[in-house]
Amino acid sequence: MRDRISLKEAIKFHGHLGPYLVLGIRAGELALKKLKCKKYFGLEVEIYGVEEKPKSCLIDGLQLSTGATFGKGNICKIKAKNIKIIARNLKNNKEVTISFRPSLIKDLSSLKNHRDSEAFAQKLLRINTKDLFQVKTKSVVT
Ligand SMILES: [Zn+2]
Repeated sequence: MRDRISLKEAIKFHGHLGPYLVLGIRAGELALKKLKCKKYFGLEVEIYGVEEKPKSCLIDGLQLSTGATFGKGNICKIKAKNIKIIARNLKNNKEVTISFRPSLIKDLSSLKNHRDSEAFAQKLLRINTKDLFQVKTKSVVT
């Protein structure tokens, strides 16, 4: 994919390598694929349950991969108990909801320190998306 963000670019933007950054990139790429949507414009992204760090790092990963940004106003965060990402293709009204698999939540909660987190972030790059996320796609009636 031409517009695919490299990990190097992502770290340069975000400042460090962490699991939530990688998960944001992977979830964003998956959302674009599911919605058959181009990057930057014509989409809308909502992120739930990322009030505090490091969970909020997910936001940067999503901005980098989807091109939806706070500057353009097509991404927003919403207070919630659990993490969930909803992305919408504004051209065909398709919507995808992405949440973390229980096994992923368990793995994330077991990370003890910075080194663990970095190693896990590297690992996340290679895990199949279906083993990371639960995905629901639907068409929105307007
Ligand atoms: Zn971070």
